[in-house]
Amino acid sequence: MLTVGPEQAADAVKKALQMGADAGVHVVDDAIHGSDAVATSLVLAKALGQLEHDLVVFGMESTDGTMGVVPAMVAERLGLPAVTLGSEVTVDGSTVRIRRDGDASSDTVEGTLPLVLSVTDAANEPRYPSFKGIMAAKKKPVQTWALSDLGVPAAILISSSPEGKEIAARLAVKLESGLITDAVDVQAGDGGPVTRQSVFAGRYTVQARVTKGTPIITVKPNAATPDAAQTAGTQPEVEELDVSISDLAKTARITASRPREATGRPELTEAAIVVSGGRGTGGDFGPIEAFADSLGAAVGASRAAVDSGWYPHAFQVGQTGKTVAPQLYVAAGISGAIQQGAGMQTSKTIVAINKDAEAPIFELAGFGVVGDLHKVLPAATDDVKNRKG
Ligand SMILES: Cc1cc2nc3c(=O)[nH]c(=O)nc-3n(C[C@H](O)[C@H](O)[C@H](O)COP(=O)(O)OP(=O)(O)OC[C@H]3O[C@@H](n4cnc5c(N)ncnc54)[C@H](O)[C@@H]3O)c2cc1C
Repeated sequence: MLTVGPEQAADAVKKALQMGADAGVHVVDDAIHGSDAVATSLVLAKALGQLEHDLVVFGMESTDGTMGVVPAMVAERLGLPAVTLGSEVTVDGSTVRIRRDGDASSDTVEGTLPLVLSVTDAANEPRYPSFKGIMAAKKKPVQTWALSDLGVPAAILISSSPEGKEIAARLAVKLESGLITDAVDVQAGDGGPVTRQSVFAGRYTVQARVTKGTPIITVKPNAATPDAAQTAGTQPEVEELDVSISDLAKTARITASRPREATGRPELTEAAIVVSGGRGTGGDFGPIEAFADSLGAAVGASRAAVDSGWYPHAFQVGQTGKTVAPQLYVAAGISGAIQQGAGMQTSKTIVAINKDAEAPIFELAGFGVVGDLHKVLPAATDDVKNRKG
């Protein structure tokens, strides 16, 4: 007896064992809640793939909210023939004879195992659990599986880098799955993971959920704080795959590559800490860089600083620059224009240093220092260094 469903479905497994089934398997996982027939058939087929099976029997009503399509979908996934609407079934060795009551005719179908079959309520008389059956069921094995036990991912998470999005886009087409990009948060929810994204230059936050296939989600680097694994000593499974690249794909290739000049600092979009400077630096990024280096941070710049030629465009943060979502973003001498905010306001903690107490950046910041960055930053740098020892 195999069932896919919420916690309560365990009762159905128990009853089936009391009625005579030898063993039970219950697939239960938050990510399956609210699944449609396509997703349900995928989970059932994956579970059957792990169980020895020859005749797979489905009920007509209970499997998919009376749609009557899950048996055929499972058969398609397993590459097996399916006979639906069986009202009389006899098995003789590997031969199965089925009376199939269709709308236009009543047919006798003969098939060979393995086979998927769905039966109507005419197939047999309902049997009730006997006392003996109830006692025997207590000793019968019941397994509870989650999606991870079936090798079905609840979601495929990919980094929101340009390369990551390219991979995600192609994978979504290949798997015919829904795709969400630039998520800053992913939480388990009914019917699959729910993501949070910041859109329209950060003016709106939207929640989204993939409704088709295995959710493919690109997540902004550093958007989530890493948590220690719940089970101590858990080692992630690394699987090596042989990849074959088509001749057609090889027609576009890199003919020259020049590594970007190493700054010795982390990559701006991947750094856990970013220290950015704006027009308030007056063109001297020395204090910004020194503070960044004391924290192991990346350096960013506002458009005003970039347009003034004080820092390269590759380091511009904002609507027309890079979008960052680090754990800590320090904005020094930056007024906090909406276009700057678009690139950094999903940062976990924002600290602003500005000599104007009325600067809009203080509305975005969790912490602020009203003062001259040329005094505040060197003092902060010294303090960090002293604390590090
Ligand atoms: C279509 C479009 C796209 C844009 N894209 C971007 C973008 O991607 N990124 C971006 O940043 N901007 C962008 N902008 C520009 C944006 O509107 C602002 O003009 C820009 O962000 C201002 O940069 P700033 O804060 O460094 O300069 P200002 O707005 O001039 O602010 C300087 C701040 O420094 C403070 N200050 C001065 N001296 C000191 C000191 N000694 N110590 C401490 N504080 C001091 C001042 O009080 C002031 O608040 C865009 C604009 C447009 C129209």
